[in-house]
Amino acid sequence: MPAQILDGKLIAQQMRQKLNAARQALGPRPIRLVSVEVGQNPAAAVYVRNQQRAAAEVGIDMEVRNLPLSTSETDLCASIGELNRRNEVAGVIVQRPLPPGIDPRVVQSAIDPNKDVEGMHPANMGAILYREPLLPPCTAAAAQHLILATGLDLRGAETVVVGHSEIVGKPIAVLLLHRLSTVTVCHIGTKKLVDHTRRADIVVVAVGKAGLVHGDMLKPGACVIDVGINQGADGKIVGDVDYTSASEVAGFITPVPGGVGPVTVAMLLRNTLRAAGASV
Ligand code: NAP
Repeated sequence: MPAQILDGKLIAQQMRQKLNAARQALGPRPIRLVSVEVGQNPAAAVYVRNQQRAAAEVGIDMEVRNLPLSTSETDLCASIGELNRRNEVAGVIVQRPLPPGIDPRVVQSAIDPNKDVEGMHPANMGAILYREPLLPPCTAAAAQHLILATGLDLRGAETVVVGHSEIVGKPIAVLLLHRLSTVTVCHIGTKKLVDHTRRADIVVVAVGKAGLVHGDMLKPGACVIDVGINQGADGKIVGDVDYTSASEVAGFITPVPGGVGPVTVAMLLRNTLRAAGASV
């Protein structure tokens, strides 16, 4: 039986409805999310436009600041410092990639942790080891949300996370560990990926390599969350999972596009409202 599709667009739309209600409860004061970009990146521009559209839908005013490519790390941090001091600014995000010479870790650390709506400040990344933080990393939170939407019991479920990046793989693994899933993290040093994926009830792939995981690498009925975003041979966006073969074996699967991506944006808005004081 083909897998049930985890429709990220629909789930994100349902989330935005809830977020809208939470935003109304905060009253008429402005709630601003500021996106800072250094230089022009066409891929980021599409992403920012999607974020802006979604923000407007839930009553968050998203300001986009484009700084010149010549901006130094010091100037960028000073600009962030100014946003940290502005009361109406609930959240600050810095679009990646940053130009060479600017260290993303330094920049992320310059954001007030209470306005770090991407959940990537060291204070928020550290807090995740204690429990799910108020402002979790958005993609990891989105992956978890999609898994929970299946109704699967995470306690004791075998989960394999492929990819161990700071912003995606590692936080996903920790969030699922909090739910008492038995988590294995695979990466470039893993000897035989298929030996791990084939025994997993839940597989989360966050690598950035099209077609890394095929249907024959999955346990029948597994829940497959594909975080990857890659440009396919025909120019179309594809994930890290070979969707055609995987959807024949999996029980649940996220499409790319239309899976993790829209829910990640909804998580960014949820974090922004939380940073503004909403209980959501
Ligand atoms: P990243 O920082 O490049 O990390 C990729 C990870 O995959 C690294 O841990 C790397 O290990 C590991 N890896 C590389 N080759 C591998 C292999 N053959 N087998 C197993 N692991 C391997 O990327 P990222 O920021 O985590 O993003 C991952 C993907 O998710 C990208 O396609 C990105 O565009 C996408 N993404 C999507 C969203 C969304 O909202 N949908 C958000 C963020 C990212 P080493 O470091 O040891 O090489």
